[in-house]
Order: sequence, then C-alpha cells, then structure tokens
Amino acid sequence: MSSTYLGMPSLPVFGTGNLNATESFPQAAKRELKNTQLRANLAHATHTIRDKRENAVAELPDWEEMRDAGSAIKNATMANLPALLEAFETNFTARGGIIHWARDAQEANEIVTALIKETGETEVVKVKSMATAEIGLNEYLQEQGIAAFETDLAELIVQLDHDKPSHILVPAIHKNRNQIRDIFLREMEEVDPGLSNEPARLAEAARRHLRKKFLSAKVAISGANFGLADTGTLTVVESEGNGRMCLTLPDTLITVMGIEKLLPSWRDLEVFMQLLPRSSTGERMNPYTSLWTGVTPGDGPQNVHLVLLDNGRTAALADQMGRTALNCIRCSACMNVCPVYERTGGHAYGSTYPGPIGAILSPLMTGIKSEENNSLPYASSLCGACFDACPVKINIPEILVHLRGEDVDSQRAKVKVPTQMDLMMKASEWAFSDGSHINLLEKGLPIGKLAAGRAKVIKKLPGIAAGWTQSRDIPAPPSQSFRQWWVKEHQSPEPRRNPAKEEDQL
Ligand code: SF4
Repeated sequence: MSSTYLGMPSLPVFGTGNLNATESFPQAAKRELKNTQLRANLAHATHTIRDKRENAVAELPDWEEMRDAGSAIKNATMANLPALLEAFETNFTARGGIIHWARDAQEANEIVTALIKETGETEVVKVKSMATAEIGLNEYLQEQGIAAFETDLAELIVQLDHDKPSHILVPAIHKNRNQIRDIFLREMEEVDPGLSNEPARLAEAARRHLRKKFLSAKVAISGANFGLADTGTLTVVESEGNGRMCLTLPDTLITVMGIEKLLPSWRDLEVFMQLLPRSSTGERMNPYTSLWTGVTPGDGPQNVHLVLLDNGRTAALADQMGRTALNCIRCSACMNVCPVYERTGGHAYGSTYPGPIGAILSPLMTGIKSEENNSLPYASSLCGACFDACPVKINIPEILVHLRGEDVDSQRAKVKVPTQMDLMMKASEWAFSDGSHINLLEKGLPIGKLAAGRAKVIKKLPGIAAGWTQSRDIPAPPSQSFRQWWVKEHQSPEPRRNPAKEEDQL
C-alpha cells in the first residue's frame, strides 16, 4: 500500500508546535536524572498504575482477543482514512456542527482564536487535551489576550506551577503531594492557608478554585478520544467530571482532534471502552464518558465546532513501517512499563508525547531529519515491555529500529566523509567475511590484556566506543579466544582433562 493509494499528499507536511524538542534526548536526560525527587515520585507513581493495570487486565479472559480487535479496527481505519473523514464531516455537519481543517499547529491555533474572538470572550475553560498541548494553544491564546484555564486537576497543577506536563495521562506525575500543596498555597488566591497535603483536601481546593470558572465560562475547548464516522459523534473519556462540565455548560464548544482519532462505527466503541480504561487508569470503566453529535437544540452548547488536525499525521501515515503509531489511543501503558521513562521522566523527551510512543510518534510527525527529535528513537533499551502492554499492539520496538535506520541513512546523506560508525561496520564486514581474518584479529588479545593492566579492567575506550565505557568497565580479555582454545584442544593428541580450569581461562 502506498501513500498515493491512501490519497495522501506526495510531499508530506511535517508537524510543528510542541512536537519538536529543543535539545537532544541524551542531553535532557542527563539533566533530569540528577533530580532524585523526580525519580522517586516517578518510580512510586508508575509502579502503582502498572500494578492496577495488570490486575484489571488479568480479569478479562479474552484480553488478547480484545487487543487483536483494537489493532484490526485501527488498521482498517488508517487504510480507509480519507473516506472515513469525509463520512464523519457529512454526519457531524448534518447535525449542526461546523468542521474546520488545519494543516499544522499555526493554522489550528489561528482557527481556534478566530472562533473565540467571534464570541467576544477573553476567557475559556479547557478539558485536558493532547492535541491542544501539541499545537501550543494555551501559549498562542495568551499572546492573543485570551486566558485559557485548565480544568483537569493534574493539568491545573502543571499550569499553576508554570511547568510542562510529563506524562500523557497524569501530567503532574513528577510532583508529589507536598509539592502540590505548596503550589496551591502560592498560586491560588482564595485557598485556606492551613491547607494540608491530604489528597481529599487538595482536590477540594481545586474544586473550589474551578467552580467559578465552570459557571461563568461561555467558551470551552476540548480534545476528543474518538470520533465515530458513521454518526459524526465525538467522545471524551475522563475521570473527574470536569470534562462533562466543560462540554455541557458553555454556549460555544470548540474541539481540536487529530485526524487519526476516528473509528469507523459506533459499535467499535465497545472494544475501545474496554481497552482504554483498563490500560490507562487500571479501571474496569472510566467514571465519565461524554458523547455528542453536532448540536442538540436547547440542550448544551449551541455553537459547536471541530478542528480536524493533521500536523504531521499524514506524514506518519505515509511511512509504511511507522504508520501503526497512529493507532495509539493515548492510554500511557507503554510509559508506565518503560525502564527508560521511569528514570528520566517525560520532560527529557522534549515533545508533548513522552515515553515509548513519543519516541516514535514525534519523529514520525516531524520527520526524522528534524534536528533534535532524531535522538528519540535511541531512547529505548528495546526490551519490548511497551509492545506487551500496548492495548492496540503497536510494535514500538520494531518502529524504533526502523527509525534508527532512517536516522543513520539521513546522517550518511549529510556527511560526505565516512563516519567512525561507517569505518567500524566496514572493519566488521571484513573481519566476519573470513575465519582467517578473525584469527588475525584475535592475535591482538594480549594487547587488550596489557591495556587492562593489573586491575584487569579497561576503563576508557577511544572514539565512538567511548560511549560503552561511560557507565561500565570492560573486563580484561582472556589470554586466548574460544576459537584458539578449540583449535588447540582438537589438534592436541591428548586432550587436557580439566575443563573447569580451562573455562576460567576463556
Ligand atoms: S502506544 Fe499503545 S500503550 Fe502507548 S499510549 Fe499508545 S496505545 Fe497506549
């Protein structure tokens, strides 16, 4: 299947906005790893969610079949995306909603701003939305004199602290209760000065802070978890009820949704409403699911808009190997099991999308040639835990390896002289092409032994190999290789009788 078959533009439009990191992953990770409080918070939070998820998943005997179904539905959606988008537009419009198409972050921000300005309002309430974080909507609105208030508790904490989210489901996962209490005391004018760090008291403070906003806001902005093509229905899945308030109380509702969030039919929701809550919060079902189709006269928002966002999604779709990354339902299960994410946290990834899915999605949407995002596919040990946890079976390790290959090719195209890696691979090709070449190289083993010295470890390797010794020593090489031992053993008329002693020498 080619990009032409899918009806996609032949020249992909890459994503902009907060998809691009401003520094490379190793650089950012080095800084984040020094934050011991962050590591402690993350280890506690990810392990708690991981355990809950495992229990919730174990309850379903057909969990694997459910994952297969989720994967098949999303693959079918991506293969038929242009037709499904048109069907969605027809159905949503027929019920009084208005569709806007945005190629990139700038276009989407301009559309949303113009819609808000039409209402004459200067304040909006927001439901947690990855798409609006991706396009940097809050920052853009602020420049235009419009204040956007986050109403999800974790997003509110991050916004009040002038910080950035570090997890797609729990944006404030890097903060503990004491830190949250301090933020509330510092940033909420009306808060009780004796506020404790108990979760119930913190939630109450947030509720009081937000209530006035809910009741006075005339415009709300949301994302969407799913769009159902056969009815033109949008869905928001949430836990706190703040989404329900935003989606029903204001006169104007503006939703920003990535074009990949479609499902072909209403019936498909049955599968995803089981996969998503169990994979994300470890719950059998989520507390609030809101569905709306265009405008219902006299009930809820009467001015309903949807911005359908590309921002690099067609570029990702054009990548035959990487396109399954668009199947992601943003459950965050891959993050909670990733040993790299658990140590570095989400800020190290730079983009709105952290963790294993971010390591593939961001470079796919911005193009692997994008300066800082090309280090993201290396932010993985390739252990495969993300693949096992993913409810729609995205083979993240396979896509990571594919993107690493793309990166190497794009670097090679830039540099005319051979790199150290090129020379090393050439040398390996020569060494492994003939047994006699390896014999020759193995004659150098005593030099390695000499380099290891009395401590019997090599602490520093030169050039490209220096990365290996950055965090570990190499033991001194043995005095003879296995091949040398084997030849000696089998050519000797009387084989030696003490294999244990010989193993020590290897
Ligand atoms: S890649 Fe899979 S596990 Fe990770 S957030 Fe997306 S759906 Fe969830």
